[in-house]
Amino acid sequence: MAKPYDLVVVGAGSGGITAARTAAGCVPSKALLAAGVDVRIAAAEFVSPSAVAVDGEVLRFRAAVIAIGSEPAVPPIPGLDGAGVVTSDTV
Ligand SMILES: Cc1cc2nc3c(=O)[nH]c(=O)nc-3n(C[C@H](O)[C@H](O)[C@H](O)COP(=O)(O)OP(=O)(O)OC[C@H]3O[C@@H](n4cnc5c(N)ncnc54)[C@H](O)[C@@H]3O)c2cc1C
Repeated sequence: MAKPYDLVVVGAGSGGITAARTAAGCVPSKALLAAGVDVRIAAAEFVSPSAVAVDGEVLRFRAAVIAIGSEPAVPPIPGLDGAGVVTSDTV
């Protein structure tokens, strides 16, 4: 069985990149590969408390950072419907 990763970072936005860079020793993001960081470009799915599945491959880890971003949500407040509420996605 493959050796577990010390850290798996899910999400490559500003949060995930910063986490990976910091863990790898503050290298520029373009140098992540040279710093020994394995990069997978695919959606990750947690399959256990210590493993993610990516592109059919199961990666075990000691720690994980979940940095998958967020999306705007409009709260269910009566009267908001039709009030012209905009979010960062619709403005
Ligand atoms: C319209 C708009 C304008 C903005 N303008 C600014 C600005 O001018 N200045 C500023 O500082 N901030 C700005 N922000 C905010 C900034 O974009 C966010 O704060 C920042 O991107 C959040 O980073 P994050 O890493 O948390 O998430 P994200 O950048 O959203 O990154 C999350 C990543 O995770 C990936 N992901 C999700 N699920 C999975 C999965 N299961 N497996 C693998 N990957 C996954 C997503 O594809 C994405 O690449 C703006 C946001 C919006 C919407």
